[in-house]
Amino acid sequence: HFENEEENEADLKERPPVVTIMGHVDHGKTTLLDSIRNSKVTSGEAGGITQHIGAYQVTDENGKKITFLDTPGHAAFTTMRARGAKVTDLTILVVAADDGVMPQTVEAINHAKAAEVPIIVAVNKMDKPSSNPDRVMQELTEHGLVPEDWGGDTIFVPISALKGEGIDTLLEMVLLVSEVAELKANAKRKAIGTVIEAQLDKGRGSVATLLVQDGTLRVGDPIVVGHAYGRVRAMVNELGRRLKEAGPSTPVEITGLNEVPQAGDRFVVFEDEKTARQVGESRASTAIQEQRSEKTRVTLDNLFDQMKQGEMKELNLIVKADVQGTVEAMAAALMKIEVEGVNVRIIHTGAGAITESDISLAAASNAIVIGFNVRPDTNAKRAAEEEGVDIRLHRIIYKVIEEIEYAMKGLLDPEFEEKIIGQAEVRETFKVSKVGTIAGSYVTEGKITRDSGVRVIRDGIVIFEGELDTLKRFKDDAKEVARGYECGITIKGFNDVKEGDIIEAYIMQEIVRK
Ligand code: GDP
Repeated sequence: HFENEEENEADLKERPPVVTIMGHVDHGKTTLLDSIRNSKVTSGEAGGITQHIGAYQVTDENGKKITFLDTPGHAAFTTMRARGAKVTDLTILVVAADDGVMPQTVEAINHAKAAEVPIIVAVNKMDKPSSNPDRVMQELTEHGLVPEDWGGDTIFVPISALKGEGIDTLLEMVLLVSEVAELKANAKRKAIGTVIEAQLDKGRGSVATLLVQDGTLRVGDPIVVGHAYGRVRAMVNELGRRLKEAGPSTPVEITGLNEVPQAGDRFVVFEDEKTARQVGESRASTAIQEQRSEKTRVTLDNLFDQMKQGEMKELNLIVKADVQGTVEAMAAALMKIEVEGVNVRIIHTGAGAITESDISLAAASNAIVIGFNVRPDTNAKRAAEEEGVDIRLHRIIYKVIEEIEYAMKGLLDPEFEEKIIGQAEVRETFKVSKVGTIAGSYVTEGKITRDSGVRVIRDGIVIFEGELDTLKRFKDDAKEVARGYECGITIKGFNDVKEGDIIEAYIMQEIVRK
């Protein structure tokens, strides 16, 4: 893939940490972001007219830089992570010393933990007479954040975001923690990164704030951003100053894309514009196939907000699907299910294979994991078994809806259930004229039977589903091939099978309902 460009150890250089500020509403996230921005010389330039581009960078006395994602609340963090983008190296958890740990504080902790992002606690509003930092420490200890003074390893910094007190210490600690993390990037490669925010501007067209995560982005670079593509026409920083290039951990606002991408979309720079256009167009057409229309688009933030209302009994869900369009369509459909007295709560969504962190989040919040055209990876499978997490794999939206409806009514099983009977790993492929591609495979789990349905899984994503055409042991047709044996498989209407693909066999079986 794009990420696998040849890396030369020597080219890996320290890069600035990318920091997100999270915490309960009104605990002072915005005030802290403003305070940091105002107290520090931004991008080495005093008194610039800052404009909001969703992120900014500050430089300390020693020339060390820190990039802040300027999106208050953890909505941005959640949405991006749900889209598979990992942008944050470190989280500052703001807790008001006069209010203590609140529900969104806990949510923030869980998200940071699930993302394996280290947390520094800023105990804010220390200027208030009613502040009680000991209580904050006590309460956070219950959530696994134990102060160093108490034998733990979480850094707590008392601050007043309003008065600008403790900010320097806080930034020092951020640099300390990021030094330990040894954050590195290669400025010599072509840029890759993530969209922080984007919108349509009347005069300038599609305007996107990108965080360069690795490599260097230059004006004129051919770029694919989500399904948008183009050439970087102009690039500015948060001071509105024009840049020719931007290195790792730098946030920049660019123009020149043919469409408006979405927060959390990844971007990649290509060698030439032609390839960029081809990739962009093919991604766009896939998205259309998935019927990703603006009408069905429901933003995750909206969904989460809707969920927060009402004190109903809840069914917690984690929704994973092959592409983001499907994730959102599914989330929207699930939200519409109405069963009296029960509420669907979608606690996490994302595109891509089901991972171990999905399972740990599910285990922590007693949630069911729904996979749509995706599969758990090996670690996730093991974790699900260990934790007793229910994974429901589907390929038709209405089936999911039906099953969840049953689940909500207390009928946890559908009438028909698909049963996965085995998996085989493709070890070699042979192209045979008139026959097609034969997948020389090794059965790793269960068995493959002649009459089973099959799916082809590549990198955890279902790329084809259909019927088995032939199943052979050496030259003979086989009725079934069990684990530990090799076989040759051809699939009806699919000749694109590659070495390393997983072929999954399944049957439909009826369930006796009480
Ligand atoms: P957010 O919702 O977390 O972004 O919180 P805000 O930054 O909007 O702050 C909420 C309120 O708390 C505002 O009225 C701020 O002025 C106030 N506030 C924030 N930080 C401090 C502080 O350090 N001390 C005091 N006294 N008030 C603060």
